[in-house]
Amino acid sequence: MDVVIVGDGPGGLSAALFLAKNGLSTVVYGQDKTAMHWAQLRNYLGIDEIHGSEFQKKARQQVGRFGALLQDRLVDAVVREGSGFIVQLDGGERVSARYVILSEGKSPRLAQELGASFEGPRVVTDRNNQTSVPGVYAVGRSARPGRSQAIISAGDGAVAAIDILSREKGQDFSDWDSPPK
Ligand SMILES: Cc1cc2nc3c(=O)[nH]c(=O)nc-3n(C[C@H](O)[C@H](O)[C@H](O)COP(=O)(O)OP(=O)(O)OC[C@H]3O[C@@H](n4cnc5c(N)ncnc54)[C@H](O)[C@@H]3O)c2cc1C
Repeated sequence: MDVVIVGDGPGGLSAALFLAKNGLSTVVYGQDKTAMHWAQLRNYLGIDEIHGSEFQKKARQQVGRFGALLQDRLVDAVVREGSGFIVQLDGGERVSARYVILSEGKSPRLAQELGASFEGPRVVTDRNNQTSVPGVYAVGRSARPGRSQAIISAGDGAVAAIDILSREKGQDFSDWDSPPK
């Protein structure tokens, strides 16, 4: 895999959308246990009002249409191997990845185990959401505890994905489409 994403809330799904849409092989691991199932969204720009579960359903379908894999699995561990990573799933299966995006929500266990820097409960990231561990990004609630909003998590996911795409292409990249003529 080019990119393994841990967490299937709006942060992880948004990152997957940008990455898969632009040709990187991408898998999202999560168990559909996102806090979104308790939310009634009235503050997501462009959407009048939607139950969080309905938002998740639409988001998962959209991401799937662009070719990202969504797998209902728990990630047990992530370890560095060479210039990339080995991601170990429940049951012991191992998947290699060139980049890892962590969107773990309120409990950033994997970021801790990977040795990423923390400030209190917050995973420290740069402006592109990369952690202190090169190639590992943290997005959404774990990177901004106390600032947990769906649209912020989705924005973070987009930032991380665009950074990875820019690195891959060797220049700044924008994912812009124009309407059909
Ligand atoms: C009652 C309530 C109401 C809310 N109302 C609103 C609202 O009106 N508007 C709004 O903007 N926001 C609202 N929120 C907040 C919103 O739900 C969060 O901001 C959003 O879910 C954060 O998204 P995220 O992707 O950062 O993390 P999360 O949605 O928390 O997703 C993280 C996911 O990662 C998974 N995960 C973690 N570790 C692993 C692992 N090792 N392997 C596999 N999966 C893993 C978790 O199971 C979880 O599904 C509300 C939240 C609650 C609780």
